[in-house]
Amino acid sequence: MISGKEYVDRVFAKVKATNAHETEFLQAVEEVFDSLIPVFDKYPKYIKENLLERLVEPERIISFRVPWLDDQGDVHVNRGYRVQFSSAIGPYKGGLRFHPSVNQSIVKFLGFEQIFKNSLTGQPIGGGKGGSDFDPKGKSDMEIMRFTQSFMTELQKYIGPDLDVPAGDIGVGAREIGYLFGQYKRLNGYQNGVLTGKGLSFGGSLTRKEATGYGVVYFAQHMLASKGQDFKGKKAIVSGSGNVAIYATEKLQQLGARVIAVSDSSGYVYDEKGIDLDSLKQIKEVNRGRIKSYIDQHPHAVFTAAGSGSIWSLKADLAFPCATQNELNAKDAQLLIDNGILAVVEGANMPSSLKAIALFQEAGVLFGPAKAANAGGVAVSALEMAQNSSRIAWTFEEVDAKLFDIMRDIYDNVTHAADDFKFSGNLVAGANIAGFLKVAEAMSAQGLV
Ligand code: GLU
Repeated sequence: MISGKEYVDRVFAKVKATNAHETEFLQAVEEVFDSLIPVFDKYPKYIKENLLERLVEPERIISFRVPWLDDQGDVHVNRGYRVQFSSAIGPYKGGLRFHPSVNQSIVKFLGFEQIFKNSLTGQPIGGGKGGSDFDPKGKSDMEIMRFTQSFMTELQKYIGPDLDVPAGDIGVGAREIGYLFGQYKRLNGYQNGVLTGKGLSFGGSLTRKEATGYGVVYFAQHMLASKGQDFKGKKAIVSGSGNVAIYATEKLQQLGARVIAVSDSSGYVYDEKGIDLDSLKQIKEVNRGRIKSYIDQHPHAVFTAAGSGSIWSLKADLAFPCATQNELNAKDAQLLIDNGILAVVEGANMPSSLKAIALFQEAGVLFGPAKAANAGGVAVSALEMAQNSSRIAWTFEEVDAKLFDIMRDIYDNVTHAADDFKFSGNLVAGANIAGFLKVAEAMSAQGLV
């Protein structure tokens, strides 16, 4: 029997050859593979069952045309996707992203990460992801509605409460989920468990909106506690200003940290006094505006346009990349390290490049990888599914307490997995291993499917 390393290298060479142009997908796969070498050495039967090569091939990729009419009556066409990656431990579960950068590589990397993340939540949910290259920026409500209705008219053929349960991601929030749900219902009848992130008046869960951001901070709390530290008086940089960034900021402030900067694709705002959360919510959740307008209400704050400086050059104790993939490269990591950063905790999916992660680890910076740290969103989605099935609605406090416990359990499992496989302190390896072990056991038990 070949060694774990030979096996992992062989499968990676094949994945590279067969997915040569999917750079983000290959990056996500590479991040996982090295961690799994000792797992295959310990369980050679997984090599015999060729589990890894089966896992990196999505069960199914659906790609479809989404035609829609703008307000002027002009016809547009976008491409829609759903990657049903793995149903080993439960129905496919994962968000939909509407952003011009969306392509097959992006949805595959997100779907692949989702398998491990969902496994780490401890809940019975498989991995999936979807979306479209549609750009919601600057579109009217009616254009958003026409697009999402057209998108769902096709997607509804492939999803269902026990089959595949989409939710939001970048560009898909409460408004889009509402329209998607309405269209699904019109075509299939009322089945509230088919989407999560729904409005509270039609089956949504309290705390779902806050869950990803709060969960990231709960996870960071355990990371800090392992070094005898907490948030009080710490300065934090939070990149992004979407749902994850807003609620990470809210929880950080509640726990005594000062968030000094947030950003969007146009640039970043630095507010030494601490970001004013009400203004941030008003700009992003109500006005759907740009972060630059923060300085209109807070003239002492400084706006730096994208390309004129990096949010990662600021001096802080904690960094929370909560914007998007590959927003933090090796140069940014070095800036943070030189400024004495204590911890970096990922709120976005794959925000740090592989080189950036390696630099943090070499420098002894506490590093919380996305698949563990941002699992709170999908975990509360699974709690929304549970509430929908049982026709019960829990209170905000009940869901928040469950979220807190889930994040603590994830932290414990990830740290123990790292210890067990001689990666002590390496939460990247711990998350990959702990996420993989459950999926591997399920795949092995279910035979060659
Ligand atoms: N898009 C989120 C994620 O990256 C949430 C997915 C969900 O709630 O299904 O995990």
